[in-house]
Amino acid sequence: MVVKISRRSVMVGGTLASVSAGAHFLTISSSKASKSAMTQNQENEEMDKKSEALIVIDVQNDFCPGGSLAVPGGDEIVPLVNKMMTDYATIVLTQDWHPAGHSSFATSHEGKVPFSMVKMPYGDQVLWPDHCVQGSNGAAFHQDLQTDHADLIIRKGANPAIDSYSSFFENDRSTPTGLKGYLDILGIRKLTIVGLATDYCVRYSAVDAARLGYEVEVILSACRAIDLDGSLKAALDDMQVHGVKVHN
Ligand SMILES: [Zn+2]
Repeated sequence: MVVKISRRSVMVGGTLASVSAGAHFLTISSSKASKSAMTQNQENEEMDKKSEALIVIDVQNDFCPGGSLAVPGGDEIVPLVNKMMTDYATIVLTQDWHPAGHSSFATSHEGKVPFSMVKMPYGDQVLWPDHCVQGSNGAAFHQDLQTDHADLIIRKGANPAIDSYSSFFENDRSTPTGLKGYLDILGIRKLTIVGLATDYCVRYSAVDAARLGYEVEVILSACRAIDLDGSLKAALDDMQVHGVKVHN
């Protein structure tokens, strides 16, 4: 019973919100009475596009075949990502961007090997091969990625002491990257997330975005995973639990 009441109140809230938005749009269209229905549809589409952004996660050389932390098939997504970028008014690229000797590198921990775990002050951390060192070729975007489409490039992982999977927060889950402020000031509410790797930076970006209240979808055909000890399944489960829509 309690659940039903709660659901109804959410529905009422949703209805009120759409009535309010519709009334607002009517006010605008009544002042332009000569406009055709087609034009109004185009205006609606334009308004929708203005509230959406494509977030392209870490399509960098080190995450592609031949790179130091290669994600299998990582380069295969580039043509699809390029095509998707032509459909969005706002495009954000992210770039893993570590100083040499970063604390997430196994080489920074004596006796540790890549892909082992270590306890950091902010929690468990996978130790990675050295990757995406600032200014290196490995940190550069894949050469075929059409970066000219980007409105914003967010660089993350620059703090030597904290890794950053999410494009919203570092791995302490509280230090912001600034992406939320950028999206909010533009009125963006819906995010489509693609890139590398599904089970790390895409996952944490999508879950944080959902927690922050954005409508979020992840397109798996434009992502590739590392899949370390079941991390892909854990990522898909986590995204589903947080209300991220996952499509192929
Ligand atoms: Zn990294």
